[in-house]
Amino acid sequence: MAAYGLGLLTLLLFLGLFPPTAPWSERFLTPLVALGGGVFLLGHRQESWGLGLLFLGLGDLAWTLEDLKSLPRGLYLEFPYLGGYAALTWALLKIPGEKPRLSLLLVPLALLGLASALKPELGIDRLYTVWDALLLLLLLPRLEPLFRERLLGGRALWGVGLLLFLVADMAYAFLEAEGTYPTGHPVHLLWTLGYFLLALGVMEEVSGKASFPGQALALGGLFLMPVLLLNDPTPWGVRIIALYGGLVGGLGLLYANHLEWRRTEEKRLRWTRFLEELARLSPRVTQTLSPEAVLVGALEATRHLLPQAVGLEVRGRRGLVGERTPHSLAIPLNGDTAYLYLQSALEESVPPGFLSLLGERIRQVLRQVEWGTLALTDPLTGLLNRRGLEAELPKLLALARRYQAPISVVMLDIDRFKRVNDTYGHPVGDEVLKLLGRILQASVRREDLAVRYGGEEFLLFLYGADRLAAKEVVERIRSRFRHQRVDPIPYPLTLSAGIAGGEVPESEAQLEDWVLKADYALLRAKETGRDRVTMA
Ligand code: GH3
Ligand code: MG
Ligand code: MG
Repeated sequence: MAAYGLGLLTLLLFLGLFPPTAPWSERFLTPLVALGGGVFLLGHRQESWGLGLLFLGLGDLAWTLEDLKSLPRGLYLEFPYLGGYAALTWALLKIPGEKPRLSLLLVPLALLGLASALKPELGIDRLYTVWDALLLLLLLPRLEPLFRERLLGGRALWGVGLLLFLVADMAYAFLEAEGTYPTGHPVHLLWTLGYFLLALGVMEEVSGKASFPGQALALGGLFLMPVLLLNDPTPWGVRIIALYGGLVGGLGLLYANHLEWRRTEEKRLRWTRFLEELARLSPRVTQTLSPEAVLVGALEATRHLLPQAVGLEVRGRRGLVGERTPHSLAIPLNGDTAYLYLQSALEESVPPGFLSLLGERIRQVLRQVEWGTLALTDPLTGLLNRRGLEAELPKLLALARRYQAPISVVMLDIDRFKRVNDTYGHPVGDEVLKLLGRILQASVRREDLAVRYGGEEFLLFLYGADRLAAKEVVERIRSRFRHQRVDPIPYPLTLSAGIAGGEVPESEAQLEDWVLKADYALLRAKETGRDRVTMA
């Protein structure tokens, strides 16, 4: 920024010392800016652009000296100009372009150079003006990205700079062809500004920064184009073309700026939404503590920034949501491997920091889920423990009251379990508990709660089930339990159950009351012979 400021100051100083309409200004200001720009760009390893400006500056200087001494035009003048044009052409060719569409609006400007071929009195200058026209045509595909919501900044600046220089050069030839070239014609300012913007813009494109003063100067230069060329004595063709060039170029630049502004604004909004959603991501958002729910949330958040994201996977037990595709981005996740799957390959690079931010947040929330799971579930059976019940019961109550759904409470207890432990040992007893845990989990619905309430006592909260429905569920569990064997127990295992509730619960106290009632019912089932279900 400081460098641009200094550059601008230098330019203003020059303009002060060499008012553009003063005859000595057009002799020295223009070559000095070109030489300065050339040296500046060579210093920043922009060889083709740098040599181009340097040679053009030398040519302009030689022309000044020749003019001052009233020397005949010689080859010493053509060599630097030819070198400069060749270098500029090479610099342009090295930059990939796009199929020109909107930039085609600038084509009429090239007519100025092509028309010069019809004027024999221009002599060797026709070579340069025709070359100007060709350079302008080469420039168009390189300017096209400006109108496709991409690549503003430096490109716009050097594009305008080159445009100003080319138009000034072509117009100058026509002014000269009119006979005596009027000293002090402001076309020189255009020419000089062209050199200056070219050097500044190439620098900005290399560094990836776009400065506001640069953009303002570019716009100003374009709108200046017709004003300067309206000065007498200017041929009418040149005036019309200059007016056209200034208007189309200026409006085009404004339009490109508008597109860029809109794009930045949209990007900012998408980032905000992404960050908001990522911040909201937590195990609490979901009814149950599940890693899948975390991944679904993270994927949703990601879509704000990368709409083509279709899947998210954390390798290992945390699983996959969405789908796998051949286009994936690796997410840094500290040990684990995580991938974001995209519908198509990315055109641009991912915004910096995006993936590590996403990875860090996913890692945090998954860790929270793990801790929550550890705290709220029973490690042997994977069912909720009492603390888990305390955490989940209020949610279930709220759900039931909102939808006026009944809840049935079931207390289950394995029959003669002590005998299993005593005969076959504790590990076999544990296997029986795990088996029942699996059966319970498979027999209840997503909203239901299955709790390991005591050593071998289990509690079920069946959502939306009256007592009859609850009895059906318990019978199914009993049947499954009876038909599965645990080695080496030879006899079928049975259990007893008590059912209470079956209505819409009014309060947590009522649910607790139903738990007591279910326990009583279970007791009666035990007393009346076990292997049965009793209603409270
Ligand atoms: P009943 O039919 O009357 O229920 O007879 P029961 O033998 O099953 O009696 P009770 O329900 O009182 O049995 C509780 C037994 O459960 C005591 C204990 O050995 C066993 N137990 C409790 N927790 C565990 C555990 O984590 N693992 C194992 N293997 N056994 C457990
Ligand atoms: Mg028992
Ligand atoms: Mg018991």
